[in-house]
Amino acid sequence: MDLTRTTATGLLAQLKAGSVTSEEVVSGYLGRAKELERLNVFVHLDPEKILDQARAIDTKRKAGAPLGPLAGVPVAIKDVLCVENELTTCGSKMLAKFKPPYDATVITKLRDAGAILFGKTNMDEFAMGSSTENSAYGPTRNPWDEERIPGGSSGGSAAAVAADLAPLSLGSDTGGSIRQPAAVCGIVGLKPTYGRVSRYGLIAFASSLDQIGPFTHDLADAALLLQVISGRDPRDATSVDQPIPDYVGTLDTPPKSLRIGLVREFFGEGLDPEVETSIREAIRVYEQAGATIKEVSLPHSKYGVPAYYLVAPAECSSNLARYDSTIYGHRAEDFKPKYPGEDKIHPLILMMMASRAEGFGAEVKRRIMLGTFALSAGYADQYYNQALKVRRLIRNDFDAAFNEVDVLIGPTSPTPAFKFGERTADPLAMYLSDIYTITANLAGIPGLSIPCGLTKGGLPIGLQILAPAFAEENLLRTARVFERATDWHLRRPNSVDGTHGTHGS
Ligand code: GLN
Repeated sequence: MDLTRTTATGLLAQLKAGSVTSEEVVSGYLGRAKELERLNVFVHLDPEKILDQARAIDTKRKAGAPLGPLAGVPVAIKDVLCVENELTTCGSKMLAKFKPPYDATVITKLRDAGAILFGKTNMDEFAMGSSTENSAYGPTRNPWDEERIPGGSSGGSAAAVAADLAPLSLGSDTGGSIRQPAAVCGIVGLKPTYGRVSRYGLIAFASSLDQIGPFTHDLADAALLLQVISGRDPRDATSVDQPIPDYVGTLDTPPKSLRIGLVREFFGEGLDPEVETSIREAIRVYEQAGATIKEVSLPHSKYGVPAYYLVAPAECSSNLARYDSTIYGHRAEDFKPKYPGEDKIHPLILMMMASRAEGFGAEVKRRIMLGTFALSAGYADQYYNQALKVRRLIRNDFDAAFNEVDVLIGPTSPTPAFKFGERTADPLAMYLSDIYTITANLAGIPGLSIPCGLTKGGLPIGLQILAPAFAEENLLRTARVFERATDWHLRRPNSVDGTHGTHGS
């Protein structure tokens, strides 16, 4: 039996029953990682450290010691999360040698739960992008079609689960970076409410938008991983002290009320017809389950992308100012004056300039410049402050919609996975990949993507469900209604499997 073709919930049952050891499980995944190296999913993978963690759990289990809820289960980690004394590059040359002196809170929680930290996954540099093509370490391939992108920025984490290189992984979502890669890789991706999960130790991109969340094959696993990572953390002042519901225990109880809103603006121009067909099909599944479907409007959503591309770069220009090569980060060797007038610049400043020029890639530089401009004196009122007002209006739109319905559904990504290079020359086309996901980050609400179909060419399609702040429990239960009625979550890519079959959990 192949241990890597299951879910975390499935693995836990076997581990508990004693039919497998964690060492056997991680050995299976390590073998598979070797076989599928060409996908470029992991930036770092240390087999010895992984085996050590697994053996430690096996020893504890044998001794009858108390074990956490993820004991012995591998979890792949987006390389944006700090792991003590392990390389954490954020997909950037700037942090090529960075080893954080501490664990992110989610990492501490995973360790406490007995999870096995299974490698660091590839990503767009500093989480800026929608295709993982902006990584300094080369792109990750989509397991469903290796000529295509796995989405981004958490492309490595999404591909890891899609290709069964780990049953679970963590990503971060600032404008869609969990939900969009989940959609195009045919798996579940959940962005929690802003404040639900501690951001301590998450390398900051846009601090008012960033959230950490799970990638999984199904909702039972998503509930399990969310349960482990949620909660107020004194080290993150924006984490919220809200009770954590029993996501796992309540998952199979259908929601009391199933009023679903279809966002009119999410079915407009630019939506791929095959994606639209699958979403309409999903709506019928909900109708059959007794849902009431109602069209609602988010009138300001058309300003989501422009508002996001002011707020996120503004915050990024401030957050990334710390990479000046003095304390850590890439340092240029040659920073002698090169251009006219540079001889008047202090050598320390020249060193910072040269180091930043070498250490950051093109997209990161573009964002820093956009953000610096948007915040500059004289322009802040026209750009940044204006964007904040739009952000409030977008939030108000959601509040109004959630007065009428319990959740909103629509497409996660306007198109299935696109080919490498297709959007790299046109930043605007790339930015539009997140047209349906960005507004949830601006409003701070939770959202998830669940597999809901395949194109004729065999590419996955994702259904997005959005819920009010801190309504993750209802979000999961609502999504479960769809999962129970369909088998899309059981499909696996044939490019890595040789079969196009379904695998049970
Ligand atoms: N694609 C969006 C961006 O480039 C979102 C990225 C993210 O969520 N981290 O900013």
